[in-house]
Amino acid sequence: MTVAAEMHRPTESAPARGSDLAALLRAQKDAQRREGSPDYRTRMARLDKLERLLVRHQDDFARAIATDYGNRSKYETLVAEVFVTLSELRFARSHLREWMSPEGRRVGMSFFPGRAEVQYQPLGVVGIISPWNYPLQLALAPLVGALAAGNRAMIKPSELVPETAALMARLLAEAFPADVVTVVTGGTDVGEAFAKLPFDHLVFTGSTRVGKLVMRAASENLVPVTLELGGKSPVILGRDFPADTAAARILMGKLFNSGQTCVAPDYLFVPDDRLEPFVRAAREAVADMYPTLVSNPDYTCVINDHHHARLGAYVEDARKKGAEVIELNPANERFDGKSRKFPPTLVLRPTEDMAVMQEEIFGPILPIKTYGAVSEAIEYVNEHPRPLALYCFSHDDVLVERVLRETISGGVSVNETMLHVAQDDLPFGGVGASGMGHYHGYEGFETFSKKKPIFYQSRVNATSLLRPPFGKLLDRMLKVLIGRPG
Ligand code: NAD
Repeated sequence: MTVAAEMHRPTESAPARGSDLAALLRAQKDAQRREGSPDYRTRMARLDKLERLLVRHQDDFARAIATDYGNRSKYETLVAEVFVTLSELRFARSHLREWMSPEGRRVGMSFFPGRAEVQYQPLGVVGIISPWNYPLQLALAPLVGALAAGNRAMIKPSELVPETAALMARLLAEAFPADVVTVVTGGTDVGEAFAKLPFDHLVFTGSTRVGKLVMRAASENLVPVTLELGGKSPVILGRDFPADTAAARILMGKLFNSGQTCVAPDYLFVPDDRLEPFVRAAREAVADMYPTLVSNPDYTCVINDHHHARLGAYVEDARKKGAEVIELNPANERFDGKSRKFPPTLVLRPTEDMAVMQEEIFGPILPIKTYGAVSEAIEYVNEHPRPLALYCFSHDDVLVERVLRETISGGVSVNETMLHVAQDDLPFGGVGASGMGHYHGYEGFETFSKKKPIFYQSRVNATSLLRPPFGKLLDRMLKVLIGRPG
């Protein structure tokens, strides 16, 4: 299919029954077979369309997400959804030619003068299942990688953000033919049917629980999966690091999108003699960022009543089991459930039986554990499922190096939270319970490509020696290649 043939064939948001989904996938696969591997110009044109859509409709997306949330800071949407996705797209565009070029590889002496190379080929159709917390970025950043690598894609957004999902479906249908990119909307039942489709690759972003179901469904068709899951991302605060700077950066990470971020700092380890200064600094950091909370447009709502009640239950559980709970509420406002705002809350010295130490928090609650020696914090992290992110605050290079070497996590920011995710040239992905596979930047292109190894035989070569009848020459050659026994 040429670029011109892709001009404007708007379709409605796709209906989402199992048979409809199968038909949509079939149409994409047929188109892929007809088109083959799209050339550089076609891929660039598709990325350009996506870029124009994001730039033109940035405010529409901010409004749709705010409607779904009740209140979602416009700036959070522009930074973490629109800008991050555009930055990913522009990085892919500026490297696409280089990524698409075949890579020459070395051949062994005995195969000389043959030659070897790796070619990158589109896999075909990529399925993308996305969550509600960054509904635009987590649907479109995988799409950038899929399109750059020459694939087609079907997207299934979360049912918890219906306005955003409908807008995305409408705008993508206006920009792309349904056999290039299509969005199907619906709930868990649609997700289940979607995960059973024989895609060429499936990217799932969401909870670890559903990730297991998706992987099980995909295994029926041997569909390779990239699983971007959640978990409890720890912060280790070194003894040397200034409490005020640490508090400002940690609370920024914790309160952005009201903590509803997969890489949000989940819980914190502070040295036992630094707890009080940290709590003081945290109080000041919150007052600086959010002098008020309830009707402050910068402070985002919890997505729905269920999640609001879940967070309330975590705090009650911690209180009942003896933790000291500190609400950081600079203007002493009353929080009723109606606004679905949840106050930033510290839970000091939590114990293992508390829900805040067992579940991914996904909200503005920060449990703070204390340690005597940093080895205690490292051991704790290693005894728990592998986290999606880990944060270490220290100017002591030896300490930082030790934490990096002795823990394993999806990614790390040192002396900061979350910003490793915004680096276009870094891969993104979890490990163990926090996921598998990578995307973003080159790794996204690689994930959505078949790396095809190719050997080109030369006219003149020595490999006829490998054909029977085997003779003395091969015998002698093997003695050289393998070495003599003894
Ligand atoms: P979720 O797992 O409940 O839902 C994610 C998506 O899966 C939704 O579109 C949903 O409709 C669909 N789904 C539900 N059941 C399904 C099934 N049986 N088969 C197929 N699809 C199904 O997650 P959520 O509540 O939307 O998102 C929050 C979770 O996502 C948190 O755990 C968070 O840490 C994680 N997350 C991870 C990343 C990451 O990049 N690693 C990013 C954002 C969120």
